[in-house]
Amino acid sequence: MTRVVIVGNGMAGARLAEELRRRERDPARLGIVVFGAEPRAAYNRILLSNVLAGSITARDTRLRPDDWWARNGVDVRVGVRVTGIDTATRTVHGDDGTALGYDELVLATGSVPFVPRIEGMAADDTHVVAFRTVEDCERIAEAAGRGRRAVVLGGGLLGLEAARGLLLRGADVTVVHPKAVPMERQLDDGGGRVLTRVLTGLGVQVLLGRRAVALRRDHTGRTLVLGDGTELPADLVVFTAGIRPATELAAAVGATVEHGIVVDDALHTDVPHVWAIGECAQHRGEVYGLVQPGWEQAEVVADRITGADAAAEYHGTPPVTRLKAHDIDLASMGDVGADLHDGEHEVLTVADPARGRYAKLVVADERIVGAVLLGSPDVVGTVTQMFDAKLPVPHDRMALLTGRPGTSVESVSPAGMPGSAVICRCNSVTKSSLTGAWRAGARSVAALATATRATTGCGGCGSTVEGICEWLRTTDPQNEHDEDTTQPARKEGAA
Ligand SMILES: Cc1cc2nc3c(=O)[nH]c(=O)nc-3n(C[C@H](O)[C@H](O)[C@H](O)COP(=O)(O)OP(=O)(O)OC[C@H]3O[C@@H](n4cnc5c(N)ncnc54)[C@H](O)[C@@H]3O)c2cc1C
Repeated sequence: MTRVVIVGNGMAGARLAEELRRRERDPARLGIVVFGAEPRAAYNRILLSNVLAGSITARDTRLRPDDWWARNGVDVRVGVRVTGIDTATRTVHGDDGTALGYDELVLATGSVPFVPRIEGMAADDTHVVAFRTVEDCERIAEAAGRGRRAVVLGGGLLGLEAARGLLLRGADVTVVHPKAVPMERQLDDGGGRVLTRVLTGLGVQVLLGRRAVALRRDHTGRTLVLGDGTELPADLVVFTAGIRPATELAAAVGATVEHGIVVDDALHTDVPHVWAIGECAQHRGEVYGLVQPGWEQAEVVADRITGADAAAEYHGTPPVTRLKAHDIDLASMGDVGADLHDGEHEVLTVADPARGRYAKLVVADERIVGAVLLGSPDVVGTVTQMFDAKLPVPHDRMALLTGRPGTSVESVSPAGMPGSAVICRCNSVTKSSLTGAWRAGARSVAALATATRATTGCGGCGSTVEGICEWLRTTDPQNEHDEDTTQPARKEGAA
């Protein structure tokens, strides 16, 4: 029997356990043990923004029903932190006294929130909270409420999702961000300025180009002091100032660690039998802060360890980011830095700042290499599929950006999409999963949502799922052969 030990029961670790079991069903041949420091079964962390906004509960974020793991022969040790690894004897040690041998060890330890250095900020202050776990979410929700003053430190994706959630809970919200525009890693200056206007219009105070330097506590409460002397009374401080890959275990066993744990295209570290995936891993210089790369990496490691594809390789994932905030529809993908007169790229922008709309397309060799879509939910699905699948851009780029009727693009119609196209990013649901669920009896958008969870995150994929549902309704050969399970799936290649 081969035993794989996974350290980290987060999104990448749990996915790896599933992928391993999918390839080798027999627990007597492949033992899978997952250690998770958090006190609960694996959940979809990216849905925490929806939990904070109050649209779902923490329980709705579970990746699988509670008993799924045991039923599938996955031994999950919830609430146990791995504190040491002995690579000579191939043993991991847990903080509950466990010592367990492994054949292959996969580090999927994720990241920890970066704690900004702020004078007077105390580690035990329950009104100063990060935004990473269910427990953080509960603490924020408890401290926030109608009329409470909340300050969010960091105007990246997480900070803005936290700000929107706090606003929906009735708090007065201020976002403090050190750069000239929010989400500067995903937006160009034009898009960032329109986004600032949108946030301000919703009631968020946005303070740019400033940092918090001190937190004072006295009988009147807490006051955050910014570098320029501004004083902000705060009942709650949420810090979303970035993340740091959790690399200590890897460093302790002598694996190369730069920003993250350095891995090769096999996702292997330079220590024998030790792999790393997800946010803790650094591949070709890149440390991703997104779930999709970790899930793709999990497939490669599962292929290699089980021998399903012993030569599988990971070559990187083009980043697609979607802000999951009520009333703000924002997607950003690829490299959006090129300006309008860039010699190497074709760049288009459409801006309507007063109505909170901004769109930018960066094209090279007839392919989309970057895009910003703010306030254009109708075109996000099409542009994302084109970017993901590297499909040629239609000749009339402007029609694509504005989603003009009659300019639908055949190559991203449901029929033309590859089965691997990710339709719902929040739940990583592919076109194949939707087709499979349809054939298993889910014959409406609601039923597909129940079966696959597509549309249950930010909801941005709703129209694409509707399109796929309609396409299956009109074209799927199994509609006429519902009872005939021997009927081959005619469109297997495409679905
Ligand atoms: C509020 C929020 C919204 C987000 N939105 C998006 C989004 O829209 N799109 C997107 O792509 N990404 C989003 N992300 C990022 C996404 O959640 C992460 O990229 C993803 O969770 C990374 O998966 P991971 O398994 O590498 O790390 P995690 O999910 O963080 O899992 C790591 C796990 O390892 C555990 N662990 C660490 N050390 C040990 C140890 N020594 N022993 C045992 N267990 C250990 C940790 O406790 C944790 O449970 C969001 C994140 C947050 C917090």
